[in-house]
Amino acid sequence: MKSMKSLTVILSALVLLGSLSMASAESCCDKAKAKGQACAHKCCVEAKKDGKVCEKCNPK
Ligand SMILES: [Zn+2]
Ligand SMILES: [Zn+2]
Repeated sequence: MKSMKSLTVILSALVLLGSLSMASAESCCDKAKAKGQACAHKCCVEAKKDGKVCEKCNPK
């Protein structure tokens, strides 16, 4: 059962790594845009009000 457990740990680590690299490749605003929606993050909504892009979620 020990090998089963380590396999599960490795698999979940891979999934986590995959989702992390996905998140860095696309910002929350890009994801929302892809769905034809505006980003629902409070910081992004505030930035959009000022006609800007949220720098916190969209670093240069
Ligand atoms: Zn956003
Ligand atoms: Zn933001």
